[in-house]
Amino acid sequence: MTVDYARLIIGGGYGGMMAARELGRAGLGPGTLLVDLRSRAGYPHQSTSGFAEAWIRKYDLPIRGDAVAAPIRAMRLYGPSGRSRVVSPPGDVGGAAMGMVLQEDNVLANMEAEAIREGVTVLHSTMATHVSRITDGFRITTRNGQGTRSITGWRLLLFEGYHAHLAKQLGMVEPLRDDQFYRGYEITVPQRDQPPGEVRMWLPDRAETVPRASYHWDFPASSSGHATRRVGNASAKSDPHTAIWYFRRWWDAHRAEYDGAVLSRCGGIIPTAPPARTVYDSGAFIGGDTATTCCSVTGGGILGALESGYQCAHAIIRGQPKSYGKNLNWIRRELKVRYALKMLVVRLTYDEMDRLVDLLGTYPLPSVPQLNPLKQRRAFTRWALGADPRLFSTILTRGRFWQAVMPFF
Ligand SMILES: Cc1cc2nc3c(=O)[nH]c(=O)nc-3n(C[C@H](O)[C@H](O)[C@H](O)COP(=O)(O)OP(=O)(O)OC[C@H]3O[C@@H](n4cnc5c(N)ncnc54)[C@H](O)[C@@H]3O)c2cc1C
Repeated sequence: MTVDYARLIIGGGYGGMMAARELGRAGLGPGTLLVDLRSRAGYPHQSTSGFAEAWIRKYDLPIRGDAVAAPIRAMRLYGPSGRSRVVSPPGDVGGAAMGMVLQEDNVLANMEAEAIREGVTVLHSTMATHVSRITDGFRITTRNGQGTRSITGWRLLLFEGYHAHLAKQLGMVEPLRDDQFYRGYEITVPQRDQPPGEVRMWLPDRAETVPRASYHWDFPASSSGHATRRVGNASAKSDPHTAIWYFRRWWDAHRAEYDGAVLSRCGGIIPTAPPARTVYDSGAFIGGDTATTCCSVTGGGILGALESGYQCAHAIIRGQPKSYGKNLNWIRRELKVRYALKMLVVRLTYDEMDRLVDLLGTYPLPSVPQLNPLKQRRAFTRWALGADPRLFSTILTRGRFWQAVMPFF
């Protein structure tokens, strides 16, 4: 059967754009179409875009100096009592030491330029509204200013974000439950006295200015060359109105620390469910937020999007599409554990959360060999047993400890 394109990619966020760029690099640009709703790559912005340094090297991301909004040197975690500790967060999430906040449009525009140079066709301001299976492939319907079009393709890569409309049409994902997503709301304000390289994160507090099962952040960034902060809230189970209400409540308690001027606002959904079980089905791939490869603890989903875009492209390049799921397993396992941790943290009392913050703030991370999760977990357990045996046993009895602590390392 003749199809219009060998490969159709829906969505040009971090996941879809990574897949397009990798296919292009492997000589599969011609015959690849990427369809994206946004008017240009990465704009309007959807996220803070806190990146770990390690991802930039791992995925060979085209980061020019003007993409860096701010470097991140430390993360400070606030417990419910308001006391805080500088902690070393996991090396693979946004906000990690040695990370940075990047301008989403800049990074994605550079990736897109490379994909286009390698022959990928990109359609912006175009929405894929419907998908169906045809013999040996897929038919999508797209809509844009020029009208409605029907396009066929052999492989379909769905990187359409958390909405997952097309993935649902193919029966590859179930709708998320109310408690399985955070609603994020963020404002950009001028930097004032905050430590410039420090990300700050707040756990729920006794006054519930941050609702339980939610958190609040403050990232260093920049806007038109001026230092700014991106201050936001992610709250579980909330509609936009409630998310903003919780944000305002927190803001009222903290606004004195800021200048007061609000330069911009954005918001979105962070899916915090366990990652999708099936990511490949007879020619169709799902990845990124569509496959809920998002960390339930931090809300960081860029790593999952980049990794799924990369693995998806390489499964196609190797001619072994079914290997996609297997190669994505390492991150899916890790994300399942992080979901377990989220469920555990929301069951801790305020005192226990405070003690957890203390505990994390004193852990001598540099002494632990990096990048070996098993060694790191063993080392942490040995250390935590000595440092706070009571908290350790509480966590042990409330949840599966091994699973619970793993996300931190
Ligand atoms: C407020 C906020 C802050 C965040 N901060 C961070 C952070 O600091 N670090 C981090 O790691 N993660 C962060 N995240 C999460 C992160 O942004 C996402 O996990 C990540 O962007 C997912 O990438 P993706 O490619 O899967 O999907 P998306 O980035 O959502 O991209 C999907 C693309 O598909 C397009 N699209 C959707 N449907 C269609 C359609 N039917 N037809 C055509 N195009 C379509 C969309 O327009 C979009 O361009 C944040 C999220 C939010 C909401």
